Amino acid sequence: MQKLSQPDNILPRNLIRAARIVTMVPEQPLLSDGALLTQTTAAGDRIIAVGNYHSLKNERYQKLVDLGPVTIGPGLINAHTHLELSHLAGRTIAGQGFVAWLKSLVPHLNIPPRDNDLLHALAGMRLSGTVFAADMADRHAARLETFLEKNDFAHWLMIQHFGFAAPDSKGGMTATTAEKLNPELAVSKNFCRAGHAFYSTAATTLQAAKAWDRRQHRPFALHLAESQGESELLSNGRGQLADFFREAGILPPEFQAPGCSPVAFADQLKLLDKMTLAIHCVELTQSDIEILARRRVNVCLCPRSNAFIGVGRAPFAKMLQAKINLCLGTDSLTSNHDLNLWHELEFLQHNVKTNLNLQTSLAMLTRNPAQALALNHDYGTLEPGKIALWSVIPAQFL
Ligand SMILES: [Zn+2]
Repeated sequence: MQKLSQPDNILPRNLIRAARIVTMVPEQPLLSDGALLTQTTAAGDRIIAVGNYHSLKNERYQKLVDLGPVTIGPGLINAHTHLELSHLAGRTIAGQGFVAWLKSLVPHLNIPPRDNDLLHALAGMRLSGTVFAADMADRHAARLETFLEKNDFAHWLMIQHFGFAAPDSKGGMTATTAEKLNPELAVSKNFCRAGHAFYSTAATTLQAAKAWDRRQHRPFALHLAESQGESELLSNGRGQLADFFREAGILPPEFQAPGCSPVAFADQLKLLDKMTLAIHCVELTQSDIEILARRRVNVCLCPRSNAFIGVGRAPFAKMLQAKINLCLGTDSLTSNHDLNLWHELEFLQHNVKTNLNLQTSLAMLTRNPAQALALNHDYGTLEPGKIALWSVIPAQFL
């Protein structure tokens, strides 16, 4: 191991060596016997050079970290999860459709997550190489924010708006449950506004939340077109999902179905643009796919969650063909078995007929979500200026 004493004029540097590096910089070939030169800065450990090990080994650095015969890529980004539900794993009904799943989940939502469950969920993400999560949170958001900050895990806390209550003074928005419980949340640097879904949240509230994110240059996320029941509710106001939300007193009697698909409705409301993350997108027509592509909307697929609940499969190949920016998310442990993005990718590859190469597959876990979530300056590729975090790519994907 080569060690140099630290010169006075530079901050601590390390050289990270790996047998192969997939930088995910477009057009850049795989680097054999590659290395990342990293430096500790006020903005954390950053990459300052990427190249062949032999071209970088004469640089000044304190420590050589030889990762051995592995292939590394950028740190992974989980584009959709709900960590605050981690303690409810095993409490929900699988495979019987969205309403059955929802009915099994709702009675538990007030139970706060326990530290051990959160730590376990976080460890699962970290062990699989995940370095950032877009976490959608509700009533336990403040707890989660404290937990993630304390454990130094980078994230967006996407606070979901929910309900059809009359707007209050917050710019036409109904305050989120999380903000009512803790008004301090909205000043967090990690805070974004998100919408739960059309079947649970007033369209005007979603528009105001999106407008807030637009002003703050932050991503907006919405569960969209997840189940057939959602399409039916928006089409004609009827169906099992409509009945469930009416009986729960959430969907108001005066609710008027817009008479179109969820994607078309989102487009009418001007919720769709390149800073919107549409989550699930299972129930899509060809016209919906064209709208998503035209508006440059980012789509987060959660294939294992869709299979767990039993809502079908998103038209992956058609969205890929339409060049939609596709990301992967695990969703929560109430509709998945773990928060491991490699397992999500493996499941997707197994279930789609399209042959996915490494670049296309890895992009959904790295560069695409970095773009979708406005993280390009820090994450998504291994190149100078980015945060010095990486993942080890399992051999089966190479
Ligand atoms: Zn979700």
